[in-house]
Amino acid sequence: MLINHGTEQLYNQLNHSLQLLERPISREERIALANYIGNVYAALNLMNEEKIEPDLKHVFGNSKNRHNFLRRIDIYEVQMLDHFILNKDFHRNFMLDSLTIVEDEMRLIPEGDFAEKTILSEDEFYDIFLGFMKSIHLEELFLKFVQENRIYSVNYQPNDKMKGFTIFNPITKETDSFVGDFNFDISSMLTLAHEFGHAYDLSLFHQDVPVYNQYFYQSFFNEAIPKMFELLFIQYLVQNHIMMEEAKDLKFETSVIHQDFMLSAYMLSLLPDSLIKHSSYKSLSIEEFVRNVKPYFLNDDGLIEGFVRDSPPFDLLEIFKYSYGSILALFLKKSVLEFGYSDGLFGDFLQNRAQMFSEQFFRDWEIDSAHFEKLYKKEMEILKK
Ligand SMILES: [Zn+2]
Repeated sequence: MLINHGTEQLYNQLNHSLQLLERPISREERIALANYIGNVYAALNLMNEEKIEPDLKHVFGNSKNRHNFLRRIDIYEVQMLDHFILNKDFHRNFMLDSLTIVEDEMRLIPEGDFAEKTILSEDEFYDIFLGFMKSIHLEELFLKFVQENRIYSVNYQPNDKMKGFTIFNPITKETDSFVGDFNFDISSMLTLAHEFGHAYDLSLFHQDVPVYNQYFYQSFFNEAIPKMFELLFIQYLVQNHIMMEEAKDLKFETSVIHQDFMLSAYMLSLLPDSLIKHSSYKSLSIEEFVRNVKPYFLNDDGLIEGFVRDSPPFDLLEIFKYSYGSILALFLKKSVLEFGYSDGLFGDFLQNRAQMFSEQFFRDWEIDSAHFEKLYKKEMEILKK
């Protein structure tokens, strides 16, 4: 079975993690476990009819531990935002240039109706996905993932923007992926490709727990590998004429989402430092936010306000993860197709992905808007035909 519909395995992992907290463990390990336990609870709540409450007393032991935990998370955030402020000019210029390239390309795509989504049988779904995994030489890892029953379906609300998530316990190294409202169609397949990207990424995470916490709380780069898998997956379908029209629709949809994230990222990089420090921007009203960014947009007919109202850019880390994720995905894909998974940019990226943004890394690998433009134009060719 591709999908694990039961919750038993998750409850076992939860109980094991709660037991791990009984041992003397470092603060960083406690943070990682608390984060993981919270995610397992969230997953169980999306799968269960009955709601369950996390046992916080057990997780933190006492209020001092809880206080220390929250303070450490704050420190991660403060460091991340300070580092963002230091590089704000770079981010702003890079996002604006890339956004302009994306907008220009998107304008060239002919309009059309979306194709009806085909519902496959489980076998058909499995065969296509396995074919994709074989094409990128990762079928072994995927089969192990399936055999260990690590793929779940969770129920989302109809207008929920989440499509799936992957959880990782950096102490036991267990990874589980959750696909929202799993259906044997191409959208679930794309989400599975994305979540498998996280599972693949984390299966190669051999660094210490503190580095994992950095990767989770401070790095802009942990959506890059999953986004690369999305690109590879759609390319596989189109090149092999499998559900081609639907694959093109998905490419279009994901490009629009990418464009929205980049616009949000650009807006955040326009805010004055004082509003970024200590996440002050999070307490702005929509009107105040718009007032701060509007002067940078020409000929705005309420479009900016409408955009901010629809998708308030109120989580800087998440927005930059997806924006840089989608940009870097193109560079990583090129590297993987040329040099495989251990050499070239991809190999170097694996070593450095938990770090905060580094301009030097971008310069070393020529990750700039001129190269982005070339890769993006090539990537979008399948939509222009
Ligand atoms: Zn993701």
